[in-house]
Amino acid sequence: MNADSPDPVLAIDIGGTSLRLALIGVDGALHGEIAQYEMPFSSDGAADMEGLLNLMDPHVERARQRVADEPMIGVSLCGNVDLVSGDAILAPNLGWRNWPFGRLVSERFRLPVCVATDVRQAVLAEAIWGAGMGLRDFAWATIGTGYGGYLFLNGRLYGGAHGFAGNFGHITLDEVNGYPCGCGRRGCFETFVAGPAIARAGQAAHEAGKSVILSSLALGGDVTTPMVFRAIELGDETAIAIVDEAIRLICINLGGMVNLLDLSLIVIGGGVTEAAPWFVERISSDIRAYLMTAEAQRDLRVLRESMPNAALWGAAAHVFAAEGPIPGDALEEGIVHRAIRAW
Ligand SMILES: [Zn+2]
Repeated sequence: MNADSPDPVLAIDIGGTSLRLALIGVDGALHGEIAQYEMPFSSDGAADMEGLLNLMDPHVERARQRVADEPMIGVSLCGNVDLVSGDAILAPNLGWRNWPFGRLVSERFRLPVCVATDVRQAVLAEAIWGAGMGLRDFAWATIGTGYGGYLFLNGRLYGGAHGFAGNFGHITLDEVNGYPCGCGRRGCFETFVAGPAIARAGQAAHEAGKSVILSSLALGGDVTTPMVFRAIELGDETAIAIVDEAIRLICINLGGMVNLLDLSLIVIGGGVTEAAPWFVERISSDIRAYLMTAEAQRDLRVLRESMPNAALWGAAAHVFAAEGPIPGDALEEGIVHRAIRAW
């Protein structure tokens, strides 16, 4: 990559249900449009790698035509990723374990690729182009199918001993009375506050005959998270109580993290906050009750993500920071950050 006049990067965000692609410049500008597809899955329930590469193909070809040098690819993936090898170590929503994802993409297109976990890419984008610009200590939180995030401490990404820091959604809240969690344990915060937990509480209220509105919205099917938000708009007291409780627990959880790390900002994204934008404003006001210091109560900001999809933007930021056009000071310490060239 030419550090003086870098070409835009092909950024790819691979989620549990959708695939998004965009060309993003070194200034964070979107070139053209964001393309979106449903994620292809094989009959065995795992993400279909060949189908995925075929969906990427025309976008890679378009990138080849639009940039002066060889295009580079940045990827955000919903799972734990080895930053050096680009392997998907564990991506439960894609059915992948120790899957050589980065190498397969690089080999297929004969192009360099950077791959990392979606929450890590999101916080990097906020640090370089978004609400975290110039800040030393802040966190990213996703509230969607799951609940968790990533940390930016002392002016750089913080991965911890194994790259798994930021799993505040898997702090145990109640392992005795709690629900089984995707991580294999029981009673994590995620199982009480993420989208499926809100839907589950709505379904229980519907089955117990506690909410006429939720029962009528369900139309004989199951209650979904958007239905609970719709019931709130219709003034349903049961739905209000369900979401109040989720917000209370999120504030206890994130407030504890602020007390531990003295953060100045939490940026929040994810499907739940897209469905109910007021969710973040509620957290911003309610979290004050759980902050220890007057300084944190006064200064902590809680904001929605500052890009249409911070993880997608972060996939591009990762390439620019690893390859030099953007100084790599924001990246994790102790790791040699290089694009994978596997052909
Ligand atoms: Zn868990």
